[in-house]
Amino acid sequence: MTGVLNKFTAIFAALTLLLASPILAAAQRRRPVALLITGGTVVTMDKDRRVIEDGAVAVERGRIVAVGKRAEIERQFTAREIIDARGRAVIPGLINGHTHIPMTLFRGIADDLDLNEWLTKYIFPAEGKNVTEAFVRVGTQLGLAEMIRGGTTTYCDMYYFEDAIADETARAGVRGLLGETVIDFPVADNKTWPDAMRYTDNFVRKWKGHALITPAIAPHAPYTVSEAHLREVRAFSDRTGAPIITHISETRKEVEDVTRDHGARPVEYLARIGFLSLRTVAAHTIHLNEVEIGLLRQYGVGSVHNPQSNMKLASGVAPVPQMLRAGVAVGLGTDGAASNNDLDMWEEMDTAAKLHKLYSLDPKVLSAEESLALATIGGARALHMFDDIGSLEAGKRADIVIVDLDALHQTPRYNIYSHLVYATKASDVRTVVIEGRVVMRDRRLLTLNEALIKQKARALRERVTRSLSTP
Ligand SMILES: [Zn+2]
Repeated sequence: MTGVLNKFTAIFAALTLLLASPILAAAQRRRPVALLITGGTVVTMDKDRRVIEDGAVAVERGRIVAVGKRAEIERQFTAREIIDARGRAVIPGLINGHTHIPMTLFRGIADDLDLNEWLTKYIFPAEGKNVTEAFVRVGTQLGLAEMIRGGTTTYCDMYYFEDAIADETARAGVRGLLGETVIDFPVADNKTWPDAMRYTDNFVRKWKGHALITPAIAPHAPYTVSEAHLREVRAFSDRTGAPIITHISETRKEVEDVTRDHGARPVEYLARIGFLSLRTVAAHTIHLNEVEIGLLRQYGVGSVHNPQSNMKLASGVAPVPQMLRAGVAVGLGTDGAASNNDLDMWEEMDTAAKLHKLYSLDPKVLSAEESLALATIGGARALHMFDDIGSLEAGKRADIVIVDLDALHQTPRYNIYSHLVYATKASDVRTVVIEGRVVMRDRRLLTLNEALIKQKARALRERVTRSLSTP
């Protein structure tokens, strides 16, 4: 009896080995990675603008290791976690190239005014009375939650207490190019210029080399920061390698004032004093002439277009098609939520494409594909982060967004770029991965407590309202 059993066991074992060995060998050859996103339409935004139907993305140690057809990727990799993206779009994380994130708490505080009146009568006073580090933290959490929900994985910010903003951003697992605002009058965090420069120096030193946070210096604008201070900022950037984030040529008044005070238009003036460099990011750049567009290109300055904010404050229309034709790196941003009034990059892409068609009376001037590029690979270029983000390519950081495509407003589908830019909404974003970490899964935020954030934001609204009614 034992003999028969032994013989049976031996034959069974041999058979199992024989059958399993090719499968086993294949499995062993497959490289284990942290995460596979499989199925779905992968919109790479790489230089060939590959769109891969039934594609897949493999992620390991926060980076993309492969992008291709699902069958091909599954042959090469096994993963500890697999996200099924069938029927959905898989796109590079969106890049919000210009924000003042804590200003979410001033959403709707004053509308329907021009920049000058809005800023001097409402925003500067409201900031003076309310902005503390605690306020900034709540506003940042609110903005981060809104951005993750909308598929934004990187944002470029300029505000006060930027160290607290960096802290909240890193904790939420979001990528940020974060600039401490320096300006020639006393503000919430620093009352003098030397204090602001000291703060910025510590801030840059503390965060330099962080996987998610790139610390930067953010002189407010050429009309609020003196020439001597702008030169000092450039020297600081040269010494530390910190990027410079600023506003340039947002209004006609700025162009007139700078021309009167310095004898040149803003971009020409900034070029003349040696302020512009390959590390400069300029928001708005609306009122430019051909020479200034050439200077932006020549110095490698990144430009960030904020169509909704510019429309709402009636600031003007940036020459985006002209800048793109001239080879300027152009990204897209929402600006602060007080002038927009949200941080929704989907609206911004839609608006950018339509605004430039209307303004030029040429429907071909900015296509849906080009508009998506502004919010992804173009933004990466404008923020000087092209090597790390902006497209789904092996070697880049794993900032990936999965978007539903089956809502009524997305049915039926012919062209993926048209669908993403003209039909899709922030609420269609399902899952968000940043630096290989899932920060929203199936619309559930994993790094932020949404209910608590809303409660804290509403409580602060009461304080802001009271502060404005008292002199
Ligand atoms: Zn701004």
